[in-house]
Order: sequence, then C-alpha cells, then structure tokens
Amino acid sequence: MSDNIIVTAAGDSIENTLVEEFQGGLRGPLLRPESDGYEAARKLWNGMFDRRPALIARCAGTADVIRAVNFARDHRLHVAVRGGGHSFPGHSICDGGLLIDLSAMKGIRVDPAARRAQAQPGVKWIDFDHETQAFGLATSGGTVSDTGIAGLTLGGGLGWLSSKHGLTVDNLTSADIVTADGRLVTANAAENPDLFWALRGGGGNFGIVTSFEYQLHAVGPMVVGGMVLYPLSQAKEVLRFYRDFTKTAPDELTIYAGFVTPPGGETVVALICCYCGPLGEGEEAVRPFKSLGTPVHDALGPLPFVAQQQIFDAGFPTGSNYYAKAASLGDLTDEAIEILIEYAATMPSPLSGMVIQTVFGAASRVAPDATAFRPRAFPYAPIIVSQWLDPAQTAENVAWARDCWGALQPFAGGVYVNDLGENDEDRVPAAYGANYQRLAALKKKYDPDNFFRLNPNIKPAN
Ligand SMILES: Cc1cc2nc3c(=O)[nH]c(=O)nc-3n(C[C@H](O)[C@H](O)[C@H](O)COP(=O)(O)OP(=O)(O)OC[C@H]3O[C@@H](n4cnc5c(N)ncnc54)[C@H](O)[C@@H]3O)c2cc1C
Repeated sequence: MSDNIIVTAAGDSIENTLVEEFQGGLRGPLLRPESDGYEAARKLWNGMFDRRPALIARCAGTADVIRAVNFARDHRLHVAVRGGGHSFPGHSICDGGLLIDLSAMKGIRVDPAARRAQAQPGVKWIDFDHETQAFGLATSGGTVSDTGIAGLTLGGGLGWLSSKHGLTVDNLTSADIVTADGRLVTANAAENPDLFWALRGGGGNFGIVTSFEYQLHAVGPMVVGGMVLYPLSQAKEVLRFYRDFTKTAPDELTIYAGFVTPPGGETVVALICCYCGPLGEGEEAVRPFKSLGTPVHDALGPLPFVAQQQIFDAGFPTGSNYYAKAASLGDLTDEAIEILIEYAATMPSPLSGMVIQTVFGAASRVAPDATAFRPRAFPYAPIIVSQWLDPAQTAENVAWARDCWGALQPFAGGVYVNDLGENDEDRVPAAYGANYQRLAALKKKYDPDNFFRLNPNIKPAN
C-alpha cells in the first residue's frame, strides 16, 4: 500500500484501492515514487527535465495500454506517452499524472518475403536495424540509433534513406492505435484511411500506437557513407558546394552538412552522407566531397549500414542538457550560410552543434497534402542543438540556439514537428500549414477532449 496520493487534473485525489485495482489488472509493473526502478524509469534522454509522474505504467502489451488510457481518462489524469524517450522538449514525461511507458514493448517481426516488418512502440532504431539487416533489408529511419521508432515515425522521419525511399511515414503501411476512448483501431490505406493520413506526421495527437508496420527495402549490408571534415575557415565554400550538389544528387545519396567540435579540437564543418546503391557508384558519387580543400579528417567510404545508422550516436549522449531550435528553408542562400557560420564560430559549448537535414528525392516527390507531414517543399532543415553539462550555463546555451534560429527566420518557411523545442507550441499550426485544419477536424473526431495533449498539440476543431 502506498501513502502517495494521486491527484487528478481537477485536483481531486484518487483512492488507493482504485489505484491498486488498476495495478492488479496490468501485466507490466505500475511504478510509484517509492517503487524500485521509479527513478530510472522517469529519466529522459534530455537531462533538462526533472519531472515526477505520480504513476508510471510500464506497459507489457496492448491490453495494458488500453487499461492505462481508460484509467487516466476516467480519473482525469494528465498523461505523458513514452516510446524511445527522445523528445527534445520533454513531452514524454509529466509532473504528477500518469506516464504510459511503452519502452518494454520491443517485439519486432520481419517478413523477408513480403518485405514488411511489424514493430512495437518501445523499439529503437538500433533494434529495428538489427532485425531487418539480418535479411539485408531496412526502412527509412532516423540518424541516431538510440531514438525510438514511435515518436520519430509519427512526426515524419528524416534519415539516411530519405532521398531514395522517402520519409519514415512514407514507408508506414499500417498501424494499430489505442484511441482516447480506449478502442483499438487499425489504420491503413483500406481501414480508417483518414486516421492513417493523420498518423503520418500528426505525432502523438490521435492515440497510442501499439504496432507499426513498415515497407522494407534491400539495403546494405554495406553502404558508402561517413563524413569528411573541413576547417571552419573553409565553411563558406563547403556549404555552397553542398547547396549546389544536393540539388542534382542521385536519390541513392542523402547528404547532410553540419558543424561539430571534435573532442579537444576546433569547430569544423562536416559533410555527412549515405549512398545506398552499388558501392562503386557510391565511391564515385562522393569523390568530389574529398577535394574541396584540405580535409581535417576524411572518414568517407564503404561501411556497414548499421554503422552508418550510428555515426551520430556518440554526439548525443543520454543525460546531457539539450535545447533545440529548427527551421525549414526553401534554399540555403548565401545569407543563411553566413548566419550558420557566424553562430558556429560562437558556440558557447563545444558539445553543441548544427545539422542541416534534407528533404530531397523520393521524400520531396510526395505531395505536401498526401500525408500530415507538411514541409516537403523545404529541402534544407537545419536543427541547432545546444548541449551542455553545467545547469549554471543554461541561459547562455539556450540564448545561442534561439538567437541563431531567430537570425534564420527571414529565410524559413516551416518546421518539422519532431524538431520543435520547448515553448514552440505556437509554431505547431505553421508546422502543419494547410494540413492543420484537416488535422484539427480529425483530432475532434478521434480525441475531442484533447486527452493526448502533451505533444506538439493539434487543438480539436470547434
Ligand atoms: C538525438 C536525437 C536525434 C534525432 N534524430 C532524428 C532523425 O535523424 N530524424 C528524425 O526524423 N528525427 C530525429 N529526431 C527527432 C525525433 O524524431 C523525435 O524526438 C521523436 O519524438 C523521438 O521519438 P521517441 O519515441 O524516441 O520519443 P519519445 O520521447 O518517447 O516520444 C515523443 C513523443 O512522441 C509521442 N509518442 C511516442 N510514442 C508514441 C506512441 N506509441 N503512440 C503515440 N504517440 C507516441 C508522444 O507524444 C511523445 O511525447 C532526433 C531526436 C533526438 C533527441
């Protein structure tokens, strides 16, 4: 028996017997602040968020998810939903209320003949790639292998296969979802197509996905990828080359640019890429990247696809403090390049960096209203990520990212919802642009009381 009082959003307390009854009906554990494992379970990837849910339901399966949704709704509890725990603005943790934690739901089934995979919402990209690469298959996922498939898929999904195979949402073929009324609904092209449209970019607004089904493609086991680094003094030429080259690059080649500071070194400009076609063609395609001047470091060449999927991992460790701002640009103008270089030269923390993600090739050929993911026509999506360890340095690191983002605003035309940061709620309608009204109508249909609100929130239409 716990003495901890569970308080609803309306300020009423819930009797312990009701909580115990809820707990008794779960297959996974229900953690309270005094439970073993509670402290570890409430930690997020982003160390900025020190929140304490009243209850954490570590769901073992769909039945637990349904039970948790019904309990939270009936008792008007605040709810946070967690897949891989990599929300930049800390949406997957709440103070008080119920955290519906899906991280233990890690089942994956690959059908190599049909080139399909089904995965549960606790799966991370490192798990997914492991299972699918056993058959020489992959889908379009993220660029840090510790991120969850769930949040990443539902927001859109930009990664190393985007130019060839589209975004992650373009490869989502079906999903099972528990809606706010506790029903399990399947959404795909044939069943509930309106919900299927909304799930492909609409984030966690419509319910809790308990199973994702993806189209797979032949990829690897080797690709041509990695990165080449140049000194900051050459950044203007490198980024101009990058801008021009990306516009005519083959679909097999997805290319990002960025700024990082290697341990103990100077800040450098990086070209990072993945060519997922024949290796010889890939080596030819990336050859120009190596002769833009004198590289500080050249690690561009054949490597296993799973290694490519992990090349950013060391730069984003769990527990650091993070703050991100992002924008989508119609072009990488000389003015925007100047701004990025100016801010790269003044990063207050050597752990911080910037990455210019891209929406080219197959990802850009899908119509902006074909899925909820909107910014298809904005090929460059820079994300400015502050990372620091000492909480006393929060203000200057947050200010740096905000100022850089502010300076880019005259060139920005949208934003990718998964790259929204803290206090970006007012940017959600702009992130969805002309798709927002349709999303708001579907929110009203599937979640009229805005039960799922701790996310880049779409308000139910009036
Ligand atoms: C280090 C890092 C690298 C990244 N790299 C990329 C990248 O390469 N490409 C890219 O596209 N994005 C990238 N992102 C952004 C990433 O897509 C989002 O942060 C995403 O939300 C992470 O998903 P998650 O499951 O790990 O997060 P969580 O924090 O678990 O979830 C985030 C939100 O998603 C929703 N959600 C999670 N699970 C479910 C579910 N099963 N059903 C319904 N809603 C759910 C909830 O609203 C939750 O608050 C990156 C983020 C980080 C921190």
